[in-house]
Amino acid sequence: MTEDSPAPDLRPATLAVTGGRPPHTPDEPLNVPITMASTYVAGGDLEYGRYGNPTWAAFEEALGALEGGRALSFSSGLAAVATVLDLVGHDSLVVAPRNSYNGTILQLADLESRGRIRSELVDITDTDAVVKACDDAALVWLESPTNPALEIADIPAIEAAAHAAGAYVVVDNTFATPILQRPLELGADIVVHSVTKYLAGHSDALMGAIVTRDEELYAVLKGRRDLIGAVPGTLEAFLALRGLRTLHLRVERAQANATELTRRLAGHPALDEVRYPGFGGIVSIVLAQGAPAADLLTRKTSLWVHATSLGGVESTFERRRRWKSEPATIPDGLVRLSVGIEDIEDIWADLAGALDDLG
Ligand SMILES: *Cc1c(COP(=O)(O)O)cnc(C)c1O
Repeated sequence: MTEDSPAPDLRPATLAVTGGRPPHTPDEPLNVPITMASTYVAGGDLEYGRYGNPTWAAFEEALGALEGGRALSFSSGLAAVATVLDLVGHDSLVVAPRNSYNGTILQLADLESRGRIRSELVDITDTDAVVKACDDAALVWLESPTNPALEIADIPAIEAAAHAAGAYVVVDNTFATPILQRPLELGADIVVHSVTKYLAGHSDALMGAIVTRDEELYAVLKGRRDLIGAVPGTLEAFLALRGLRTLHLRVERAQANATELTRRLAGHPALDEVRYPGFGGIVSIVLAQGAPAADLLTRKTSLWVHATSLGGVESTFERRRRWKSEPATIPDGLVRLSVGIEDIEDIWADLAGALDDLG
């Protein structure tokens, strides 16, 4: 932490703008430089490039302030997920939403197939069933909203049950971002991010992060990062921090656009379902004519880009089941819309035109 660390009672928009800045002393740059270094002069705290970097540290300080904990950055969201799942002992039970991000599901299945852990996948909206599953758990993984089903978990209720069983509570906060939800304040032990998505926000960098308030957990996780070496690139950390500066504005605009799109899409004859949890910038639509109509839709727009990933400034979409790894509980004709920050009238006209064109 620098001496100019923002006071903890500042509001999110201010923390996003001011977190991780160099001190306000003459000739200091306003932004932390990109420090390209594999090693440092001996005798200090950093020593070697796998152990730390001033550019990562600035990003971590800003994200930590936003989530209300201490952050560690990783090379990708899945590197952060793997590091957290590795916290539990041999043969421990991990409870997770059956509609978690498919990379998380694949990691759980991989660990289970090698006898490393046991996992129980649950309907995260069925709080009673989740609470029951917590009994024997060592780690309860939450993703809320889930990707792309957009289900919401009752985080405080599940947190209480998980902690009563002595389990870690982890929340993948990629979709909500700390602007809309701060899981550590709700009692979670660990927050995980795919920084790649909203935090960096411009579809140009792959990065992940873990945040915790627990100093012991922080030390264990930092130790794992030092040892495994899944560290971010320095340019990525700089881009992620640059992106973070406008997180609140981008989330606010994406949410306003998503809310309005949801309103206008409701009852559209080409759609069976429009899913929107009431916050955030992701809307999932289910095409009445299934996968063929969904695939056709992704080829008929000019502004909406057919691409995986989400949380960039530009509107993107994809049919999730085009990925073989996507859980079969996701409808075949579901298209996940990552609503961007463009003018609503333009992205609406483009999408509505394509939908009407499906006939
Ligand atoms: C994309 C994503 C991840 C994985 O992050 P990467 O940066 O792609 O490794 C994890 N969780 C959620 C919810 C995601 O959307």
